[in-house]
Amino acid sequence: MKVRFTKPLGKTKQLPELVINWHITEACNYRCSYCYAHWEGRDREVVHDIQASSRMLENLWLYFHPKNLSNPLRQQMDWQGVRLNLAGGEPLLYPERVHQILSNAREIGFTTSLITNGSLLSTDLAQHLAPNLSMLGISLDSGITTTNKLIGRQSRHGQLLSIEHLQDAINVARHWNPELKTKLNTVVNGLNCHEDLSTVIRCLAPQRWKVLRMLPIVTNQLMVSDADFQGFVARHRALRDIMCVEDNTEMTESYVMIDPLGRFFQNALGQSRYRYSRPISEIGVAQAFATVGVDADKFCARYLANVEKAIA
Ligand code: SF4
Repeated sequence: MKVRFTKPLGKTKQLPELVINWHITEACNYRCSYCYAHWEGRDREVVHDIQASSRMLENLWLYFHPKNLSNPLRQQMDWQGVRLNLAGGEPLLYPERVHQILSNAREIGFTTSLITNGSLLSTDLAQHLAPNLSMLGISLDSGITTTNKLIGRQSRHGQLLSIEHLQDAINVARHWNPELKTKLNTVVNGLNCHEDLSTVIRCLAPQRWKVLRMLPIVTNQLMVSDADFQGFVARHRALRDIMCVEDNTEMTESYVMIDPLGRFFQNALGQSRYRYSRPISEIGVAQAFATVGVDADKFCARYLANVEKAIA
């Protein structure tokens, strides 16, 4: 694929990197009531086809390469690198594929990161994956067993995330990649909004703690009121140096996202379903991205707020 290089029309925002979130699978070993990881369509997930995955990554790289000035996004923002963030579902249901994709993506030129619920992150796997990651993100909603069970954060066999186990895995990952940044993601919802997570967060010592308000796109279950969300943020103000808060407005149309079937998709406030492009493999990255796009101002505002927390 040839990339056309032209002059930008007048870029406004400078970012260190553009982040592409590839939700590689819908499958998950948890059953969170508020889960957003549900997409329309039942075709085979791209992640299971090594060649198709690699082809998609190469095409994404060409289109989002910082020097590809024909990308219309470049008229609104400027970035120096591209990070591929693997998410799910639970990506570590397929650890070897994750490893292959991370290695392949780094060979192509991406920096790479991963978001997991942490339940399948053994110390061996942490050692295996860490050298290929610039950032490891873990979703964590509560340190209380009952709350986790009520949210649905347990396996079919009733297994819950052990904080001690997670701490061991993170330490191993940090050992094998001292440059690795870690972040925790908490979805503030109707069940955890009155909790104090300070002890758990301090114990895991992430560089960033992302506090997201439950977003009613796929489901309204476990929505949280303005007062309860603000109360949660205020209760944790001692952690403000690492805390990065995203209310629903900041969370919509501000991410570049690809679903398991290889389509760009986008969310929007007030809409109960995602908007999708056709598969990238069918119409190419440029046309597919043009279908859904991203709000460049929101993307930059959210990203730069994160950078202020010392991690992008
Ligand atoms: S861990 Fe994430 S993907 Fe899995 S059910 Fe919960 S919200 Fe959904």
